[in-house]
Amino acid sequence: MTHIFAIANQKGGVGKTTTAVNLAASLAATKRRVLLIDLDPQGNATMGCGVDKYEIERSMYDVLVSNCSAGQALTPAPEANFDVLPANGDLTAAEVELMEVTGREQKLNNALKALLPDYDYILIDCPPSLNMLTLNALVAAQGILIPMQCEYYALEGLSALMQTITSIQSGPNPQLEITGLIRTMYDPRNSLTKDVSDQLTEHFGDKLFTSVIPRNVRLAEAPSHGLPVLMYDKVSKGALAYLALAGELNRRMTASK
Ligand code: ADP
Ligand code: MG
Repeated sequence: MTHIFAIANQKGGVGKTTTAVNLAASLAATKRRVLLIDLDPQGNATMGCGVDKYEIERSMYDVLVSNCSAGQALTPAPEANFDVLPANGDLTAAEVELMEVTGREQKLNNALKALLPDYDYILIDCPPSLNMLTLNALVAAQGILIPMQCEYYALEGLSALMQTITSIQSGPNPQLEITGLIRTMYDPRNSLTKDVSDQLTEHFGDKLFTSVIPRNVRLAEAPSHGLPVLMYDKVSKGALAYLALAGELNRRMTASK
C-alpha cells in the first residue's frame, strides 16, 4: 500500500520544504520507493532536489490543468534515489484556473491513481496557505505531516489548519488523519521549547514524533547545491535527524498495517 502524506502548515518558513526534500531522500535511503510532489509555485522543493524549475518541460501545472498524466511529468532527482513531480511559477495560474473546473479538489487525487503501484511513499510539499492547491493535497493524502517550530504562537497557528482538516474529513476525504507533528529548527537550550513541546504532547499525544530536527546550517546550505542534506553532508546533525525521522515513520507505518 502506498502511504500518501501532505506536508502542510499554512505558516511559511516552518520547514515544510526542508522536511519534504530530506524525508524523501531519507526514506529512499531506507530502500523505499519515493515520489516527492512539489505543490508550491515557489518551486523550492524542485530546486532543492537539483531539478531546474526553469528548464522543466512538464510540471504540476500541466498535471492539474492540462491533459498531462502525472507519469509524463515525472523526473528523477539527479543525485538521489527518488522521483519528483516538479513545480514552478506556472502553478500560480493553476490555482486560478482550477476555480472554473468541476471536481477541482479531486484533480491531484485522480492524477495519482495510476502511479500508486510504483511507490511506497508519496510526499506532497504544500504551499504556505490553505488554498486550492493545499486542498488538493489534503484530498489526495491519507495523512498530514505538520512541521512546526516550538514558538509561542505555534499552537494558535495550527487552529486554522485543524478547522480545514475537520471540514475535509466531513466532506471529500473522511479517512484523512493527522499522522504526526514534526518539531523543526529545534533548540533544546531555549526554555520555550520545552513548554511548547509539553503543550504539543498534551494536545496530540503520541502523534508528536519523538525525532526532532535541530537547527543545522547544513540543512540550510544543501538546497543551494541542489542536494538533499544526505548527499551534501551525510554525517551532519541534520542528515542524521532526517534519517531518524524516516526510521520512526517506517516503524509507525509497519505497526499500523
Ligand atoms: P517552508 O517550506 O515551511 O516555508 P523551508 O523548509 O523553506 O520552510 O525553511 C525555511 C528556511 O529555513 C529555509 O531557508 C531553510 O533552509 C531553513 N531551515 C529549515 N529547516 C532548518 C533547520 N532545521 N536548520 C536550519 N535551517 C533550516
Ligand atoms: Mg516551502
